[in-house]
Formats: sequence, structure tokens, C-alpha cells
Amino acid sequence: MEVRKEDPVFRMFFISISLTIGLCLSAVFLGLAIRSRELINEEILARARTHFNGIVMTRKWNALHGGVYVLKQPGASSNPYLADPDITDTQGRVYTKKNPALMTREISEIADKEGQFTFHITSLKPLNPGNAPDPFEARSLEAFERGASEMFAKSAQDGKVAFRYMAPLVTEEPCLACHRDQGYKLGDIRGGVSVSFDVDAVQRKLDQNNLVILAFSLLTVASLIALVYFFFRQMKTRLHKIREELRVMATTDALTGICNRGHLLERFHDEFERFKRHGGELGCIIFDLDHFKRVNDTHGHQAGDEVLAAFAKLVAGRVRPYDIFGRYGGEEFLLVLPQTDCQAALAFAERMRDLVETDLTPRLSFALETPVTVSLGVTNANPADTTIDTVLKRADEALYRAKERGRNKVETC
Ligand code: GH3
Ligand code: MG
Ligand code: MG
Repeated sequence: MEVRKEDPVFRMFFISISLTIGLCLSAVFLGLAIRSRELINEEILARARTHFNGIVMTRKWNALHGGVYVLKQPGASSNPYLADPDITDTQGRVYTKKNPALMTREISEIADKEGQFTFHITSLKPLNPGNAPDPFEARSLEAFERGASEMFAKSAQDGKVAFRYMAPLVTEEPCLACHRDQGYKLGDIRGGVSVSFDVDAVQRKLDQNNLVILAFSLLTVASLIALVYFFFRQMKTRLHKIREELRVMATTDALTGICNRGHLLERFHDEFERFKRHGGELGCIIFDLDHFKRVNDTHGHQAGDEVLAAFAKLVAGRVRPYDIFGRYGGEEFLLVLPQTDCQAALAFAERMRDLVETDLTPRLSFALETPVTVSLGVTNANPADTTIDTVLKRADEALYRAKERGRNKVETC
């Protein structure tokens, strides 16, 4: 298969454009995936903060009342961490005190049972040893002591993804009523509340969303690259066509459709170089139409053009595929015959002279008083020739003699 000069350039151009499209779109889709993940994570965090604030508000309400007494239900236990948790009214009903810590734990148990979310109030030095922080809580509490305002993380729990959130509990005035004895002052961090809820479904949706974005980006990149490829193919085909047209235009004589002078001499030169390197034979014939000026003068320039085209067609139809036939000048033509000695070239020239005399005029669209004839100068290249100029000069001299002898003749030297 022919490898065209511009093919590597096209390939490079196509690869660069495809890479650019691929990289740009990947960056856009990656940004999209990252941004949607960020938005969802922000939503999850906002949800955790709302839970946390709800708990803190409830606790605050309880603390503002210095703990809240509720009717003690049968079987209910009293808070063991309070000095005097139960009271009895005048009718003998027993009330037990729910302080913020106990209330928080009990609400947490309800929330946990309902499977919505869980929360846990803890500190690095809990009053209730069963309330000790888990590793995430311990890490968060330590971070709060270093000034962090909240901590959060995703973690795997029972094969599901849970979101953990923790923020500190800051000592406020109502808290001191119970916690002063522990040495807390206003503004001290006395622990934190951790909130935990299932984000497995959200996580799954997020993963699905990423898959959709990935598939969409691959599809878009592939479609764009296919489009670019199709466009390049079209452009390449069109360019090749234009190039071919230009090549034909640059090498062909517009009037006769055979080789023009430039291309003719170039090919003659190449053939002559081959002859010089490998030897053999190389025949050369110059044709010159006789009294051609008369045709122009009598029948007009257009008629002259018709004769030139008809002549070229007649001779071109008789030469071999590897012969080089072209327009040498106005009404002069040159035929280069590889592997042909002078004798064979002479015989061919004679056949052409006869053919033109008998066949050319009847092919014309107008009548002529005397048939069109041609004079031919024949020669062949010999080892003493250094360029095609000397060969052409000899053929020209032979042609001159043919004209001298009365035209419609073949001469050689
Ligand atoms: P001779 O037998 O001595 O060759 O005579 P001639 O008339 O053929 O030669 P001359 O050199 O006097 O005239 C050649 C003419 O060819 C002159 C020019 O106008 C004509 N000619 C050259 N190119 C073209 C062409 O492309 N079209 C036409 N119609 N005429 C052309
Ligand atoms: Mg002439
Ligand atoms: Mg002439």
C-alpha cells in the first residue's frame, strides 16, 4: 500500500487532537464527579450537625430546669450517679430525676431501636465507666482539646458504611450545677456527643453516580474522537484528490492531455540517466506539423487547436505504455522510446508520418484543402552524449533536414 508523505503528519495531528479532547473531557468529568461527591458529603455533614444541635438543645432545656422529674414507672431504675434521684409527692407518687446525661442516653436508645441514627455522649473521663469513648470518639475528644470544633469520618459498621460525627459539649452555666464538683469551669470542654447514621444507600448512589459519569465521559470522548477521525478521513481524502489534481495539472498539457514540456523533459532526463547507467538503446523523435501556421491563418486558432489535439490523440494511441510522449513546443512534439534502436525508431517514425497523412484530416470537424502532414527528426542517444540537450539537438537537426527536403518526411542523423 502506498504510504503518503502526509500520513504521519495526519496521524500525529489526529493523536494530538484526540489526546487533547480525552484529557480536557476527563478533567471536566472528573471535576463533576468530585464536585457532586463534595455536595453530597456536605449534605451528610449538615444532617449530622442538625442531629447534634437537636441533642444539645434538648440537653440544654433539661439542664436549664436543673434536671427533670418524671413519674417513676414500675420497674424503672433511678439514676445511680445522682445523690438523691427520687422524690415522693403528698399523694405518695414517686418521681425520679432525669438529668441531661440520663435523658440523652435514653433518647439514644429509642433512636437506635428505630434504626434512624444513634448518638452517644461521652468524655475522656466519664462518670459512668460504661460510657467510655470508642476509638473514633477518643480521637475526636483529643482533637477538641487541641482546639478542633468538630470531627467526622466514614467507617464500615456491620458491612455497611456509617457516617460518624462528633462535636464538643462546652460547659455552660446550667451545667455547672452538677459538674462543678468535677472541676469544670465555664467554657471548658467536658466531653462530646457523637452521632452516627447509616449512609450505605447514599454511598451506593454516589458510586452509581460515578459509574454513570464515567460511562458518559467514555461515550462522549469516544464519540468526539470518532467524529474527529471521520472529519480527518474526509479532509485527507479531499486533500489527496486536490494533490492528485494539482499533480495532473502540473504535468499535463491542457490542450492535448499529454505530457507538458516540463514533465516531458524531466522524464526524458530520467530515462537518459538510466540509459547512461545501464546502457541499451534510447530512441528520440521530434515531430513538427507542416505549414501549421496556414491552418491557423485560414481556419482560425480554434481549428489549429483541434488539429493539435487530434494529432496528439492519434500518436498517443500508437505508443507503448513506457514510451514518453509530450508536447515539446507550439506545434512540436517529442517522443522518447526506451529500448529502441535508431532503426526501429525510424520505422516507427515512418509509420507515424504515414498515419498522420492519411488518418488525421478525416478526423477533423472541418475540411482542409491539403491534408495535415508532419515532419520528423529521428535520432538515438549514444554513450558520448552527456545530457539530453545533445540528443535533442541532433533530432532537431534531422527535423530541419526533413523540412528542407520538402516536409512530410522522416530524417535521421
Ligand atoms: P513549418 O512547416 O516550417 O513548421 O511551418 P509552420 O507554419 O508549421 O511553423 P511556424 O513556426 O511558422 O508556425 C507555427 C505556428 O504554430 C505559429 C503559432 O501561431 C502556431 N501555434 C503554436 N502554438 C499553438 C497553439 O497552441 N494553438 C494554435 N492554434 N496554434 C499554435
Ligand atoms: Mg515549429
Ligand atoms: Mg511547423
